[in-house]
Amino acid sequence: GGKPPLLSVRGVSTYYGSVAALKGVDLDVGEGEIVTLIGANGAGKSTLMMTVFGAPQARSGTITYEGRDITRVPTHAIARLGIAQSPEGRRVFPRMSVHENLQMGAALHGGRYFAEDLDKVVALFPRVGERLHQRAGTMSGGEQQMLAIARALMSRPKLLLLDEPSLGLAPLVVKGIFDAIRRLNREDGMTIFLVEQNAYHALKLAHRGYVLVNGRITMSGTGRQLLDDPSVKAAYLEGG
Ligand code: ATP
Repeated sequence: GGKPPLLSVRGVSTYYGSVAALKGVDLDVGEGEIVTLIGANGAGKSTLMMTVFGAPQARSGTITYEGRDITRVPTHAIARLGIAQSPEGRRVFPRMSVHENLQMGAALHGGRYFAEDLDKVVALFPRVGERLHQRAGTMSGGEQQMLAIARALMSRPKLLLLDEPSLGLAPLVVKGIFDAIRRLNREDGMTIFLVEQNAYHALKLAHRGYVLVNGRITMSGTGRQLLDDPSVKAAYLEGG
């Protein structure tokens, strides 16, 4: 038997009040993989990512990380287990400097690895390094997205959750961010779970992908299989 996946989601349902946003989702992310979740607006992609992170919590089903049941573990404790999230809308602290934002990320380890890890994220995102003393809120959308990922990395995660890093960004900027994600995976072996509406880029980058429709997984396969699938093409790749 192979190694169990780093992250395993089984039969997970998540509700907002009485409305189910996720209805029995199964999904795995193996160590060293890039796995993407694609789907239309409102399909429940962000909800799945947030449920892995413990807020909101799943109403039913099980989330296992490193073989341990984390379904009822609070978010702050999940972060300590080595999961970091770069949320949708790149929520950096706008009034703080870039440097201070990165310190917030490093706070999980009491700042012990700050200098070492700063060098690493600056090598990955040189633009972030050029702007350490700028207020985060005055950076461009693409720069803020890079900072949001860099901040997540400062906590030294084993599993990185990225929610729509391409949202609202120009194609060239998107390419830069996806190239950085690829390097992070290839060079550092980072495991990445990527939620994306930009299905083409996400499936080209990912080892495997899942399609979410109205809170249910309807399809899964390698990135290539999904890119070549006629129904995926029709729903997510054409005219998009
Ligand atoms: P998008 O790409 O537009 O962000 P998504 O696939 O990430 O969409 P979610 O944000 O997970 O979708 O939303 C799934 C469903 O849950 C939607 O119908 C949304 O309106 C609903 N929803 C999300 N957050 C809440 C909330 N805090 N309270 C009530 N309903 C919510």
